[in-house]
Amino acid sequence: MDVRPLVRAKREGGELEPESIRRFVAGAADGSLADEAVVEVLAAIHGCGATDREIADLTQAMLESGKQLSFGETPQAKADKHSTGGIGDKVSIPLAPAVAACGVCVPMISGRGLGATGGTLDKLESIPGFRTDLSEGEIHRAIDRTGVAFAAQTAEIVPADRRLYALRDARGLVDSIPLIASSIMSKKLAEGISALVLDVKFGSGAFLPDPARGAELARVMLGLAASHGVRATAFLTAMDRPLGRAVGHALEIEESIDCLAGGGPEDLRELVLLFGGEMLHLAGAAASREEGSGKIAEAIDSRRALGVLGLVVQEQGGDPRVLEDRSKLPRADSVEPFLAPRDGRLAFADCRKVGLALAALGGARTRPGGALDPAVGLVWRARAGESVHAGQVLAEIHHRRGRGLARAQALLGESLRIGEGGEPAPLVLRRV
Ligand code: URA
Repeated sequence: MDVRPLVRAKREGGELEPESIRRFVAGAADGSLADEAVVEVLAAIHGCGATDREIADLTQAMLESGKQLSFGETPQAKADKHSTGGIGDKVSIPLAPAVAACGVCVPMISGRGLGATGGTLDKLESIPGFRTDLSEGEIHRAIDRTGVAFAAQTAEIVPADRRLYALRDARGLVDSIPLIASSIMSKKLAEGISALVLDVKFGSGAFLPDPARGAELARVMLGLAASHGVRATAFLTAMDRPLGRAVGHALEIEESIDCLAGGGPEDLRELVLLFGGEMLHLAGAAASREEGSGKIAEAIDSRRALGVLGLVVQEQGGDPRVLEDRSKLPRADSVEPFLAPRDGRLAFADCRKVGLALAALGGARTRPGGALDPAVGLVWRARAGESVHAGQVLAEIHHRRGRGLARAQALLGESLRIGEGGEPAPLVLRRV
């Protein structure tokens, strides 16, 4: 396929034909289009935007690049949540078992790290033995046995997104409403779900920092969900500071386990209760979202949700002893305190730099398919909005024998603003 007419059409303000979009996506998925050709089209869409019709065609073509899951044999309702990505965003890991503990299945197809943000799959794979490259049969079995499947898009399911996602990440083509919406929604629509919660992040750690652009992304994704008969709600939530205290793969698994044990940071629990309640309500398992949130809280506080996570870890090949014994998780060999340089109120001037600090420590991929160190990262000991004093420990940096430490410290320094600052943004700005 010659992609030049598509690129020209976009640059001249035209609309791509449905058939051209279909052939482009098929060529990206089957490898017949070279990386450079795929990138040229992605860059044209990134630079020139796309109409709602083009986004719908792109999403449909990506959806049709692989199989769609169908759970005809499974009587329970199916629901999912997806976030546009953020720093320390581990919500899916406690959320899915909590929702399953309330009788609604969660067949979750997630992504890997993208740009400065971490991915749910990479976090889960820090559990020794945990596999996310599930076949369609394995997804069905996991859902039947545990109510949850944490899976990657594969050669069978949305293969187009796997290639497009990796190329966008490598070429800095992530922050585009058409590309984010089609990437997320093709995966979600392939899951055979009837209910979906979309967590659209805003703030300096989000792909779309401006809440107005986040609201536009939410509008586009809600439209795609509605046209496929999926009941969906979107929330705009804060990513102007890290979510929770831990940033780093194994450290975020620890924090997720804490949340399911009834503890952990308040913001993490708040989002799990909010999204879980909404998922139960949309899936018909709770009369209202408030009733749904109450059920999620009960599943966590009774430890039933933690029990489901144990089953999920075992089902996907992981070592379930990590739930009781954190020393089974990978650990960095050294911990260095990061101190406040002065007195004042803690704020994040550029939250994205916290994600870059994790990357500097070795906790992110430098090329598609490359390795990352699951043990490194940081744990915040002070939160945005708190008054701190010079020399106070703001964070603990978990590193491997000093690798990337100086760079990470510099990035953390740049991520912060300690001064007169006001209140941080509300965690949940609004429902869209
Ligand atoms: N998450 C996805 O799955 N895709 C994107 O493009 C951004 C976040």
